[in-house]
Amino acid sequence: LDTNIEKLNGYLARFRETGILNRVAGEDVPGSAGVYQNTTPIDKSVICDVAHGTAADIDAAAKAAHAAFAEWRDMPALERKKILIKVAEGIEARAEEIALCECYDTGQTLRFMSKAALRGAENFRYFADQVVEARDGQHLKSPTLMNITTRTPIGPVGVITPWNTPFMLSTWKIAPALAAGCTVVHKPAEASPLTARLLVEIAEEAGLPKGVLNTVNGFGEDAGKALTEHPLIKAIAFVGESRTGSIITKQGADTLKRMHLELGGKNPVIVFDDADLDRALDAVIFMIYSINGERCTSSSRLLIQDTIKDAFEAKLIERVNNIKVGHPLDPATEIGPIVTEEHFNKVTSYFDIAKEDGATVAAGGEKVGEQGYFVRPTLFTNANNDMRIAREEIFGPVLTSIPFSTEEEALSIANDTEYGLTGYIWTKDLTRALRMTDKIEAGMIWVNSENVRHLPTPFGGVKASGIGRDGGDWSFEFYMEQKHVGFAL
Ligand code: NAD
Repeated sequence: LDTNIEKLNGYLARFRETGILNRVAGEDVPGSAGVYQNTTPIDKSVICDVAHGTAADIDAAAKAAHAAFAEWRDMPALERKKILIKVAEGIEARAEEIALCECYDTGQTLRFMSKAALRGAENFRYFADQVVEARDGQHLKSPTLMNITTRTPIGPVGVITPWNTPFMLSTWKIAPALAAGCTVVHKPAEASPLTARLLVEIAEEAGLPKGVLNTVNGFGEDAGKALTEHPLIKAIAFVGESRTGSIITKQGADTLKRMHLELGGKNPVIVFDDADLDRALDAVIFMIYSINGERCTSSSRLLIQDTIKDAFEAKLIERVNNIKVGHPLDPATEIGPIVTEEHFNKVTSYFDIAKEDGATVAAGGEKVGEQGYFVRPTLFTNANNDMRIAREEIFGPVLTSIPFSTEEEALSIANDTEYGLTGYIWTKDLTRALRMTDKIEAGMIWVNSENVRHLPTPFGGVKASGIGRDGGDWSFEFYMEQKHVGFAL
C-alpha cells in the first residue's frame, strides 16, 4: 500500500500544481467558469483543481472538433489504424498510472482497476483492427440499377461518461468513434476527471491530430447540456443514469441529435436448485461486490429457488461478511469507498429503507469509519420484488435476495422491473435456460456465467436501460451514416 501511495503521489504532483485543464484543439485551456475542486472518497481530501467548463468551452471544443473532422475523416485508413494502435500501446505503457489515479479519484479498488486500464487498451486495439473495413458497403444489383451503399463518419460527436470505471467506459465510446473517422468532444463525469485527462494526453502523444479528441470538464447541467444542444455535434454517446438519458434526449431534440443511451439496471441473477451452486455462489458475489457494486451490469437482485434458499443464503452471508473493505490502493482490498458524498448518502439510505419495508439486513448495512465514504457489503433477505430495494438502482455493494418457487414465478419477478440491461441464469437444465433467455426482457443474458464481455458482441439494454448497442459493427452503425447511390445500367 505504501509503495502504491508513493507512486500515486508522484503521478499526481503535476495535477496538484497546475490543476486539470481542458484540452481543446491540442491546447490546455482553463475553464471559463474558473475551477472546481476534485476530492477523493478515501478521506474526502482535495486532489486538485479542475477546469470548470461551461457552454463557451463546449462551443470552442465543438468548433475544434468540426475543424479537425475533414483531415481525420480523409486520413488513409491504415494511418488512422496505426495511430489507434499507438494509443493502445500508450495506455499499456501508462496502465499503472491510470489504475492508481482511477482508484484515488473514484474509490475503485486496484485489484479491479488494473485490469480495467488494460481493457481500455484492448478497446482501442479491437476497433483499430476494424478501421480498414469499417466503411465498406455493399453492391446490391437490381435489373436496372447498380446500387452501391457506403458508410461515412457522421461528423463530430459528443461523448458523455459517468464516474464508474470512467477510463474503460470512455475508451469503449471514444475508440470506435475515432476508428469510424469521427472527431470527439468528451465531457467526463465531474467526479472523476483524472483519467480522462490521461487519455487525451496519450492519444495526442500517439499522433492523434489536434482537435480530433477534445476534453471539456464541467457539470452535466451546463457543460453536458451545452454539448447535447450544440449544432455542430451530430451525435451523443451517453452512459449514465436513466433519468439523465431522458433529459438529454429532450435537450438534443431541437438539433435532431442521434443518441445512443447506455443507462441503469436492476439486473436479476436467477439460481435454480439444479445449478452448480458453488460456481453460482462465486458469480453472485462477483457480480455485485466487485467494482464496489458501482456497475451497470451488476446482478443486484438474487432470485433464489425456495428449495435451496436457506442453505445458499447462509453460505452467502458467510462470504459477504469476509469481504475486505479498505484502502483501494491496497491490493488485498475488495471494496473501496463509494465515489461521492451524494452517492454514499444514497446507498446508505437503503439500509433504513430495507428495514422500513420489512426486509432483513442479513449482512452489512453499516457505514465503516468516519474518514471516507466506506460501507460494509450488504445483503438484504426476506425481501419481495415490490420493495424499493428490489425496484430502485442502488448502485453500490448491496444485494437483495428474493425467493421463488417455479420457473414461471422467476420469470415474472425477473421481468417485473422498469430496467432491462442484463440477466444471469444458473441451471443445468439447458432447455429451461433457453425458455428463460427467450422470455427475459434484457439486452444481454449469460447462462451459467458471470458477465464476460466479448467485444464483437452487442452490448446494451432494453426498456429504461437504454437505446442502441455498442460492440463490433454495432458501434460503427452508430458513428456512421449509410449512403446509397444508384447507377442506371
Ligand atoms: P449521471 O447520469 O448522473 O451522469 C453521467 C454523465 O452525464 C456525467 O458526465 C454528467 O455530468 C452528465 N450529465 C448529467 N446531467 C446532464 C445533462 N442534463 N446534460 C448532459 N449531460 C449531463 O450518471 P452517474 O451517476 O455518473 O453514473 C452512474 C449511472 O450510469 C448508473 O445509473 C449506471 O447504471 C449507469 N451506467 C450505465 C452503463 C451501461 O452501459 N448501461 C455503464 C455504466 C454506468
